[in-house]
Amino acid sequence: MKFNTKTIHGGQKLEEATGSVMPPVFLTSTFAQTSPGKHKGYAYGRGTNPTRTALENSFAAIENGTHGFAFSSGMAAIDCVLRLLKPGDEVIAGDDLYGGTYRMFTRLFKKYGLEFSFVNMNFSENVTAAITENTKLVWIETPTNPLMKIADIESISSSVKAINTSILVAVDNTFATPYLQKPLDLGADIVMHSATKYLGGHSDLIMGALMVKEAELAKELHFIQFAAGAIAAPMDSFLAIRGIKTLHVRMQRHCENGKAVADFLKNHPKVGEVYYPGFDDHPNHDIAKKQMKDFGGMVSFRLKDQSKAAAFQFLENTHIFTLAESLGGVESLVNHPVTMSHASIPQKELLKAGITNSLIRLSVGIENVEDLLEDLEHALNA
Ligand SMILES: *Cc1c(COP(=O)(O)O)cnc(C)c1O
Repeated sequence: MKFNTKTIHGGQKLEEATGSVMPPVFLTSTFAQTSPGKHKGYAYGRGTNPTRTALENSFAAIENGTHGFAFSSGMAAIDCVLRLLKPGDEVIAGDDLYGGTYRMFTRLFKKYGLEFSFVNMNFSENVTAAITENTKLVWIETPTNPLMKIADIESISSSVKAINTSILVAVDNTFATPYLQKPLDLGADIVMHSATKYLGGHSDLIMGALMVKEAELAKELHFIQFAAGAIAAPMDSFLAIRGIKTLHVRMQRHCENGKAVADFLKNHPKVGEVYYPGFDDHPNHDIAKKQMKDFGGMVSFRLKDQSKAAAFQFLENTHIFTLAESLGGVESLVNHPVTMSHASIPQKELLKAGITNSLIRLSVGIENVEDLLEDLEHALNA
């Protein structure tokens, strides 16, 4: 099956009793047994639920994995990966991470004895240089949030494995989605998604995903998911299955509109830098071109007027772009990283990363592109 067929049919089968084309929503916590321990593969909803199984099979199919896992949030999915480690183990992560990931690493897991180093993953050498004998996990986000930096998944995976095959490479693929890049095919061991974003695609659920291609790792992750309990609910699983069926069509339009918005901003007199991996002069454009099918719908930019007042003036004056947290839905959203998505990162770290008051992040939706450009023009002149 090609990707555009997998989003609709991957891992799916007709429900046996009625032939229902969509999987029923199994709103049940438990399943009858004919004799103690004898059941039809489903015993208790924290372990498995048929609607969640259908979604997890879809997750595995779209990332070219063998196993998928659905969690109650993206953070719960990351938490599950980190629980593979033990005190003293070290994690190498990118220095421009989703704010919540940074918060979880530094304020939760550090407390339990995990060590983290944050490196600029624009250059694969920075990752290998940070490896020690205690390194157990490399955590990649690409493109990064909000500065759209690109890490070379294939090069990082192969150079890490060349040093130590037992170091796991995990990729947060939330921004790109498997429509644009497939980390497991590029050598990564684990793919993670905030399915809240593009996979769900309609801003109507909170969910996380893990996908892997190796049975032993899948077994460990399933054990942690079952033991810790942060599972996706049946109704949310149904919504995510429904969302994924249109992923390829939505992504195509997100990419088209994203490019138009990036070009518009680049040529606008009130706009400074524009962060978009599709530009020839993006520092890692060649890697983006190599590992991504297209460049996605996320665009960040700076206003030339660097004041907080100018940023707020813009943010309060878009009408179609809704000022809100999150991204990846059909509707366009605008975000002020310093005060919103990245507020949990210390001011010093934000400054170092270049996440300042003038930086604005757009999640370009699939509306009519002329309406979107008009909305931006209006807000820039407000
Ligand atoms: C939103 C997001 C997360 C966290 O996912 P939740 O579903 O909000 O828990 C992690 N990584 C990235 C890149 C995100 O955008």
